[in-house]
Amino acid sequence: MDTEEFKDFAQSMAEFIGNYLDNIRERRVLPEVEPGYLRPLLPETAPEDGERWQALMGDLERVIMPGVTHWHHPQFHGYYPTAQSYPAIVADMLSGGIACIGISWITSPACTELEMVVLDWLGKMIDLPVEFLSCSNGKGGGVIQSTASESTLIALLSAKAKYLSRAKELEPDQPEGVLTSKLVGYCSDLAHTSVNRAGLLGGIKMRGVAAGDDYRLRGEALRKAIREDKEAGRIPFFAVATLGTTVNCAFDDLDEIGTVCVEEDLWLHVDAAYAGAAFICPEFRHLMRGIEKADTFNFNPHKWMLVNFDSAAMWFKDASYMINTYGNDPVYLKHEHQGVPDYRHWQIPFGRRFRSLKLWFVLRIYGVKGLQAHIRKQVALAKQFEGLVLQDNRFELFCPASMGLVCFRLKGSNETNELLLKKINANGKIYMVPSKIKETYFLRMVVCSRFCQPTDMELAFNEVSSIASELQ
Ligand code: PLP
Repeated sequence: MDTEEFKDFAQSMAEFIGNYLDNIRERRVLPEVEPGYLRPLLPETAPEDGERWQALMGDLERVIMPGVTHWHHPQFHGYYPTAQSYPAIVADMLSGGIACIGISWITSPACTELEMVVLDWLGKMIDLPVEFLSCSNGKGGGVIQSTASESTLIALLSAKAKYLSRAKELEPDQPEGVLTSKLVGYCSDLAHTSVNRAGLLGGIKMRGVAAGDDYRLRGEALRKAIREDKEAGRIPFFAVATLGTTVNCAFDDLDEIGTVCVEEDLWLHVDAAYAGAAFICPEFRHLMRGIEKADTFNFNPHKWMLVNFDSAAMWFKDASYMINTYGNDPVYLKHEHQGVPDYRHWQIPFGRRFRSLKLWFVLRIYGVKGLQAHIRKQVALAKQFEGLVLQDNRFELFCPASMGLVCFRLKGSNETNELLLKKINANGKIYMVPSKIKETYFLRMVVCSRFCQPTDMELAFNEVSSIASELQ
């Protein structure tokens, strides 16, 4: 493909994407295909001779689109949002064009330096304490990881490095395996499954501590668990506070948990994967009170801040445990400017894309005010849906709406609610996923698409309501 063809191809793709998004409402939210639908649509082997790009474009509607779940459809209300915007798409194109691998500063200085700057910008937007910013010239700073799960694992590995080395100093005769088996980490029993998985991957026992009746993990419950483990000879070393649980967008009491972590000397990681984007609005920042007591913090601009996947912003107060324990410096990667971040040490994979471009483009083109408007609009839409639920006395809220999530159910049994959701999703107008806390099953309506309007909330509730009427 020569340059002229590339330009035509790219222009045609830009038109395709623009038309797709402009007309997304006309599509069914969930595809109707069965597993294995795609193979018969394609030849059994790759083409011997290269084809024209026009042939490929012609196959998108035939092969791909029938099997796409339309996450940006205004009636897609499942999971949590995955972000998408034109500036981020264009930035990804540039990242593909430059196609560098930012394993060290010298492999593309702009790749490292833009990441440092935009994570400082973003940190300032949510009022993170200055120790988390690289402009403070301390041991901390921000880095873009792929996902929140990866950030949790990296936080756990950093904490493990710190506390294992301390345990070895205190008990030099104990084999490392014995000391590792004594380490124990904590999270709310409502934390995302990736937190427990980080424990499995890191070879560490993670203990779920029961959240209170308001679904928030509180300091005293954590302190009690830590004391029990200390008495049993274990080494408490790590805790994860969740700001915006996946199940119902509850906020652990970070301030209390932070105090306990400081007093009991634990590494505190904050997982704000979805809800953290809201902290760009000052009115939500009270929910991150206590952040100065955390060691690492993560939220995903790729969830709720209009930056396409993958963009998980993670900040360290002190990245040296990660760098010094897991970093490696073969001769061929040394360069004249050691001392600037070589971000490969701050992450698990070796290679890394020029991901900061998407964040930079989005921050510049939307501006802080544009992004705040996006968050506020989606929170208001969730409130509107909550109001519609409350007006219909057949329904009840599972808990008050939080951010862009409304957890609700038909008054009645779990089975009725399971049937309700099954019928809603089978109908194909809207899409939602359920959740369950302490044996109560409920539906989650999340405002996901940036195209969502008040009429979409009415449409969603009318659909729920009319299917509920069929059941009764
Ligand atoms: N943590 C929380 C609170 C989440 O809500 C989610 C996903 O929704 C995750 C972690 C996992 O996110 P990721 O896919 O970025 O690993």
